[in-house]
Amino acid sequence: MEKTILNKTIIYKYLISLFLLLFFTNSLFAGNNFVKSEISKGELNLYFTSDIERVTYFTLPDADGITKYIYDVHGGVLPPNKGISKHSFKNIESFRMGQNSPTKLRIIIRSKQKFSENHVYNGKCLTIPLVHDGKKSTKATKIVKGSRKAYTVVIDAGHGGKDNGASCCEVKKEKKVTLSISLKLKNILENKGFKVFMTRSDDTFVPLPSRTEFANKKKADIFISIHANAAPKESLYDVFEGIEIYYLSPAKTQRAKEAAIKENAVMFEGKDKYSTNEYLSLLSREKITESHKLGLDVSKMMLSNVRNSFGKVSDGGVKTANFWVLVGAQMPAILVETGYITHPKEGDNLMDFYYKNVLAKGIAEGIERYLKNK
Ligand SMILES: [Zn+2]
Repeated sequence: MEKTILNKTIIYKYLISLFLLLFFTNSLFAGNNFVKSEISKGELNLYFTSDIERVTYFTLPDADGITKYIYDVHGGVLPPNKGISKHSFKNIESFRMGQNSPTKLRIIIRSKQKFSENHVYNGKCLTIPLVHDGKKSTKATKIVKGSRKAYTVVIDAGHGGKDNGASCCEVKKEKKVTLSISLKLKNILENKGFKVFMTRSDDTFVPLPSRTEFANKKKADIFISIHANAAPKESLYDVFEGIEIYYLSPAKTQRAKEAAIKENAVMFEGKDKYSTNEYLSLLSREKITESHKLGLDVSKMMLSNVRNSFGKVSDGGVKTANFWVLVGAQMPAILVETGYITHPKEGDNLMDFYYKNVLAKGIAEGIERYLKNK
């Protein structure tokens, strides 16, 4: 009896070490191998053996007015004798690819002309649009083809000018974060074929009622107000985090009420006297339902995009609140709190170029999803 137990233990130990060995060998050396590249319809497509987990992007100035557009495929591996095929494309000076680190494959495109930064990766393929002069990428035309008209979206970058919105740690200002995400969102939506207007595209102050009035004038199909949240006090900086989406309807939760008070603050400096309650009593059930649906789709796509690229993000849900900025909108309207600027990790993320890109991509996909199911 004792002998069998001993033998079993040895076998188990052996099996465990074999498993660990296989596991580590696998995680250390199994990279995502580059397979091939091709240019089709103005887009450079790069194929890999497995799903791409993350791509980061930045630019560097080069000599003679050339800019280097650099894409790092995390986990990407360049097998020997492989590289981007010899491509020539309009104003692209050169394509290059190399192993930047054991776990990072770098693609460098040199061009004199600015081209779109809206690379997308879906499964095993990374697509870089080599598009100039505001031409739409083919990915965009594909989406627009099916619909009869281009949808109009008004993006409202929260706060601006004298109104900083939430701020933290001196450098982190909500008005900057909201503008930066909004500009990225505009770019992505335009590439998908949407007509996009911004309530502000620089650091200017826009009174809250003018924002929805503007959307009504533009006959927008969707109004989307971009914000970043802040914890009510410093002792809660570590506690409050995550993405929250609001639509107009009487506020139910305390957290929703607090968020509304903060976002509405700028209203009470001025002379506007009428109350949101008067407006709320006129809101149709249908508009509430549509905004709620839009909120759910945007929330879903934001969370999945951030989780795909960054692993963890807290889901603050889709809630109702009395936000002044949504009052008066004649179309489905939501307010997106993209994260807590006061949270140590999330606040840093909101300063990060790539994180903001992923947020914007998620919002854009949420809008598409809503319109497709309408
Ligand atoms: Zn705000």
